[in-house]
Amino acid sequence: MKVVLFRTQGGLDVLEYSDFPTPEPGDGQVLVKLEAAALNRVDLWTRSGSSGIKVELPHIPGADGAGVIAGQGACVSGWNVGDRVVINSNLGCGHCPACVAGKDNQCRNWHLLGETVRGTYAEFIAIPATNIYPIPEGFPARQAAAAALVFHTAWHSLITRGGLKPGESVLVLGATGGVNSASIQIAKLAGATVYVVGSNAEKLTVAESLGADYLIDRSQDENWSKTVYYLTGKRGVDVVVDNVGTTFPASFRTAAKGGRILTVGNSGGPKFEIDNRFIFSKHLSIIGSSMGTRADFATVMDLLFTGKLKAVLDRDYPLAEARFAQERLEQGEQLGKITLTIG
Ligand SMILES: [Zn+2]
Repeated sequence: MKVVLFRTQGGLDVLEYSDFPTPEPGDGQVLVKLEAAALNRVDLWTRSGSSGIKVELPHIPGADGAGVIAGQGACVSGWNVGDRVVINSNLGCGHCPACVAGKDNQCRNWHLLGETVRGTYAEFIAIPATNIYPIPEGFPARQAAAAALVFHTAWHSLITRGGLKPGESVLVLGATGGVNSASIQIAKLAGATVYVVGSNAEKLTVAESLGADYLIDRSQDENWSKTVYYLTGKRGVDVVVDNVGTTFPASFRTAAKGGRILTVGNSGGPKFEIDNRFIFSKHLSIIGSSMGTRADFATVMDLLFTGKLKAVLDRDYPLAEARFAQERLEQGEQLGKITLTIG
């Protein structure tokens, strides 16, 4: 099969369009012929080695994918060759206490597809049948692949972990990143009022089209935490979606008493100083999460399939040009998800 892989970690030029043995589906696995994959920042960290996570070389990146079942191993039931499916990239072991309790993203032996395990920049992938979900007829594979990881992550953070309720206010730091644009839509769907801080007017236009109620352009307004504070009548917001990290001091100032700070990442860097006084005096909760559970995946994919949520799409590239797709992501030029068409 054709894949894009790297034999050593490094810059964009380590990515090769190459032949690789087609995998055999093992017990409990299906073989999926991929039609679309989507890029995530983890693809860049895995390729460069900046995440420090050990990968098996040669490595095939890619967490997101959608396609058609082309074969199945033993002990698989309920699926047929030809079924259209989207991949849930959370690989829980399936039998530890966390997995049994339905918290498979807290599995002690958890893996992310495309990070520690070879991923979706490939014509075929063998994957546990518990990690696929059916795509209804007529729904584009590209939309499903683009939505999967980011909507799953945002849903788990805002709804399952964050407990967002109708009538609450939510501040999202960032307008167009995959998880942020998913968070804006999910917060609106949940009945919240949504404030968005974005880096420029173009990105905020996208946030507005997704339903954001209040837009703050930080290129024009450095003191955005104060602006949000005044916009909320000096109350602050109930929930801050902060996947930047270095913005935590401002997020604490912006939160209302009893507020929750949700975080699934740290695009601004992992280490920063915080003032503990804000946490206890304002009764703040800091809630971290990573990816989502199998139940979350089914819930959020159904909302995508019925049109209540929608992935924002940027450019699409053929698999052979994955290098250029990663270059675009690395340069931060995209307004939405970058995808690969396979086959
Ligand atoms: Zn487990």
